[in-house]
Amino acid sequence: MSFSSGESPEKLEKKVQRIHDKCLTVDTHCDTPMQMIRPGFNIRNEHKAPKSRVDLPRMETGGLDAMFFAAFTGQKPRTEENYSKAYSIANQMIDSLHSAVSHNSEFATLALKANDLGNIEKTGKRAVYIGMENGFPLAKDITRVEEYYKKGVRYITLCHSYHNDICDSSSDAKPAEHNGVSEFGKLVIAEMNRLGMMVDVSHASDKSFFDVLEFSKAPVIASHSSVRAIAKHNRNMTDEMIKKLAEKGGVIQICLLDDYIKEPDTTMVKFRRMKLLHEKYRQADKMTESEREALSKEWNEVEAMNPEELPTTKDLVDHIDHVKNLVGIDYVGIGSDFDGGGGLRDCADVSQFPNITRELVRRGYSEKEIRKIWGENLLRVFSEVEKYAKKTSNYHDKLVAKTVQKD
Ligand SMILES: [Zn+2]
Repeated sequence: MSFSSGESPEKLEKKVQRIHDKCLTVDTHCDTPMQMIRPGFNIRNEHKAPKSRVDLPRMETGGLDAMFFAAFTGQKPRTEENYSKAYSIANQMIDSLHSAVSHNSEFATLALKANDLGNIEKTGKRAVYIGMENGFPLAKDITRVEEYYKKGVRYITLCHSYHNDICDSSSDAKPAEHNGVSEFGKLVIAEMNRLGMMVDVSHASDKSFFDVLEFSKAPVIASHSSVRAIAKHNRNMTDEMIKKLAEKGGVIQICLLDDYIKEPDTTMVKFRRMKLLHEKYRQADKMTESEREALSKEWNEVEAMNPEELPTTKDLVDHIDHVKNLVGIDYVGIGSDFDGGGGLRDCADVSQFPNITRELVRRGYSEKEIRKIWGENLLRVFSEVEKYAKKTSNYHDKLVAKTVQKD
């Protein structure tokens, strides 16, 4: 580990601030839209962690230029009723993002393209990108991919904690349903490629991951996953997966969730209580509204327990080091999972993002490398995805023109 030698703390601090300010900073995953659809939450107001980890004032404090806000729906049994509920919740979240941007146009702008970020950053405003976590709301209707693209969604995390119509999940206890990506999943990936949406492999099973890499014509992202060689968890990526992802030009956005950063101490009360809560959460769809509220209150309580035991930005940067040593600096970034479980001891919300930059500087990362981690790598993938879409639409247009000529 090489520390910037001989620098005074003041000098180091100035350097950290200068580099952090110069970076185009992107966080590829938060679940804040879940809070945004609850009455009383206003993204314009400053809130406090751990209850809330993302809002516009704290994005500004933390020098965060862009956030991908994910419209998240939990995977439920695939009944007609649940499909339509998921569709309506996802739409509610997307609508709430559009309305938050239009009500706060002096602070934030909706971003749709990779190069929008640079332009928005120059205005001093925050860029709001939209992602979708779990393809459940597609409800086996391929036309919905384009419908969501038109609503501004620029990535879809193919699945969540259970298998769905698209692919097998990394967290489902049941045996694989599709042995990776389904036939419908292949169509979804092709449609996302055609439109210029990033395919997100976070939450997908290992076999689903390798299938996606085979089927996708454009590079893919893991919007919030960490390194399995450091923290053994199915949600994290093995070295073999990271190598394959990099080979295809993709990027792994390291997730700030404690168990994905450091293996938990299973003897701790917090671990045991969290495990019980996870079991309760699986039954959440059968609960009454007040039972669900009590569960969420207890969840917040347990999550806030013993914050001094949480991993730190040092542990996080170990993951970045690992990816850099394995495949190089071009394939790693940050996806916090704030408001969805992410949060470290010294990076509990977006306002504390400079702490990550400080640790990178302390370890001797150059400004160029830090810029790549904070946004350039992700923007490169996003641009490649757009380029592929443009190429196919040109090809499609030519094909149509040819057919018309023949007639
Ligand atoms: Zn997630």
